[in-house]
Amino acid sequence: MYAFNYVKPASLGDAAAALGSNGRFVAGGQSLIQAMKLRLSSADNLVDLSSVKDLKGIKVDGNSVTIGAMTTHAEVANSKEVQAAIPGLAELAGGIGDRMVRNRGTIGGSLANADPAACYPAAVLGLMCKITTNKRTIDGDAFFKGLYETALAPDELITAVSFSKAQRSAYIKFKQPASRFAMVGVFVSQGADGVRVGVTGAKSSAFRATEIEKALSANFTADAATSVKMASADINSDLHASAEYRAAMISVMASRAVAKALAR
Ligand SMILES: Cc1cc2nc3c(=O)[nH]c(=O)nc-3n(C[C@H](O)[C@H](O)[C@H](O)COP(=O)(O)OP(=O)(O)OC[C@H]3O[C@@H](n4cnc5c(N)ncnc54)[C@H](O)[C@@H]3O)c2cc1C
Repeated sequence: MYAFNYVKPASLGDAAAALGSNGRFVAGGQSLIQAMKLRLSSADNLVDLSSVKDLKGIKVDGNSVTIGAMTTHAEVANSKEVQAAIPGLAELAGGIGDRMVRNRGTIGGSLANADPAACYPAAVLGLMCKITTNKRTIDGDAFFKGLYETALAPDELITAVSFSKAQRSAYIKFKQPASRFAMVGVFVSQGADGVRVGVTGAKSSAFRATEIEKALSANFTADAATSVKMASADINSDLHASAEYRAAMISVMASRAVAKALAR
């Protein structure tokens, strides 16, 4: 690990000011600290967000669920309000990594990190979603730009993530058995905004499976999802799964998510 200054501000303004020209925010540290230990990442100033109270908490109102950036996966998973409003989102959070990861990792850190196999990106695209930062609000559909790449500027801080409620929702992932990251994960929702299908783990960043959305808009059944044959041309291929296998898994995970959503 390269040397760095550690700061722990108590307000949003102080956090932004402490970053400097080569600073990094640290949330749960589940990805960043490991990258720093391996010297894959470095910072002059490491700005710990854990004392910024404005970044914590879950608020559910008429049509949306708003989650503070520093809210942990365990807090989302265990929230009765999230379980009632968007059950698929609570289940997604409850399936991330292991207990330690869920107790430390945060929604803001997960989205800013934009790991291609992370679970939350599937929900950002599988539901209507707005990501609020200290500078602006970003539409969920415009947030992921590529491999570990987002619409965030280097000094931009996610403050909260707001999901629209859906009538039905579910997330199913085919897990990488060691890490529990998604080899393929699919979030399906149906509501006033129509049908949305967010996919993670299959490309360099999360995407919407518009072919499956179309099939499910006509007929919201597991069979309709299975009937869609996804092209494998730009799908990830590695030692865990070929592109063809992952492409096939997208329809399979989508059909299981639809069955789960319908069964509630
Ligand atoms: C063993 C293991 C298994 C895992 N399994 C899964 C899994 O199954 N599914 C899954 O989705 N994830 C998984 N993860 C990832 C984990 O859940 C965290 O989401 C992830 O590590 C990032 O969250 P964090 O809060 O730890 O962020 P950090 O590691 O603290 O930060 C990550 C990045 O985000 C930036 N950042 C943090 N907060 C903000 C903010 N508010 N605004 C702007 N930038 C910010 C940091 O500067 C850094 O670049 C796993 C991790 C581990 C170690």
